[in-house]
Amino acid sequence: MSISLYVHIPFCLKKCIYCDFVSGLYNPARADAYIDALKKEISNISNEKPLSTLFIGGGTPTALSSDVLSNLINHIFSKFSFTKDCEATVEANPGTVDKDKLKAIRSAGINRISIGIQSFNDDELSFLGRIHNKEEACHAVNLARESGFENIGVDLIYGIPGQALESWKINLEEAVRLKPRHISAYELTAEKETELYTYLKGGNKLTLPDEDKIIQMYEYTIDYLTAEGYIHYEISNFASPDYSCRHNLNYWDRGEYYGAGLGAHSFTNGNRFHNTDDLDEYLKLLSDNKSPVKESETITEDIALSEAIFLGLRKTEGLNVGSFSKRYNKNILSRFRKEINELQEAGLIAIACSNCSYESTIKLTRKGLLLSNEVFEKFI
Ligand code: SF4
Repeated sequence: MSISLYVHIPFCLKKCIYCDFVSGLYNPARADAYIDALKKEISNISNEKPLSTLFIGGGTPTALSSDVLSNLINHIFSKFSFTKDCEATVEANPGTVDKDKLKAIRSAGINRISIGIQSFNDDELSFLGRIHNKEEACHAVNLARESGFENIGVDLIYGIPGQALESWKINLEEAVRLKPRHISAYELTAEKETELYTYLKGGNKLTLPDEDKIIQMYEYTIDYLTAEGYIHYEISNFASPDYSCRHNLNYWDRGEYYGAGLGAHSFTNGNRFHNTDDLDEYLKLLSDNKSPVKESETITEDIALSEAIFLGLRKTEGLNVGSFSKRYNKNILSRFRKEINELQEAGLIAIACSNCSYESTIKLTRKGLLLSNEVFEKFI
């Protein structure tokens, strides 16, 4: 089983209207203090096994200067051993990259870049509060490739207020034209305490697209990207063969991971814990040589089983009954017989090879993909 490391950079040049991530505005002095504390936290992680994936996310890691970011990457690589084929990702915002920075990141050992494009329509980008336009988004992908990145992912958002299906189709076409290895397509949601939530509550003219349109957009995404050769391997994720994001697959497989930085989550030795998301508290705790962990939770067998199901079902390959039994010593078909029958009757999940139960696989149907939250609720 893989072990991963997630490192959080909680700074952005501007807050996007829909953002509820742990991130605040970039300030060089605060960022320097944060990186010192983060390096200290990373140095204190005790792990002997080689890590198979690293993900530096945010926030906007590329808001940091090239030197600061390379220095952090060097620190991480000097502290841990990594598997030979380690996947090492940095998240990038098109408005914060140039060739020197991308080359520095690549030379420091990062072999995958995930670029937050979200849309190729300048009006949509402006509505979302993004700091870049379409031209800069395309340029960032090309620059990444010129800087030595072969494994490039792009993130897109659909269901933007005022967005027509045609506009979403164009976004997908633009993304495919850039030939990324990986495309994530997320539905825009209005989380409480975001500017978007307030905007929508304010009775403005633009509203989120209705459910029918969202379904059309999602179904079109699956049909179009698979026709273009991408494998739909998770509800919102598509990749060229062999380019699925291994870091995220480790989460969905309930592999172990360490998280470092503000608000970061970890899961090791059957315990899940997360750091404080208060920057001042984080800096103070690290400067006092204390742990930044705020809360921890021991995962009981019941929690582990339900996590294994709702995380595993996110993957389109589904859950293999035999592998599940081997790992958790439970037959999923008998342990969750009632839930599985109900979901099967509702057409939300399907069981392949149902007369040879050990080899059976449980998967979300197309309807189940559209209503995945309803499926997951059954197991929580
Ligand atoms: S760039 Fe990402 S993390 Fe930063 S504000 Fe926008 S959505 Fe949030």
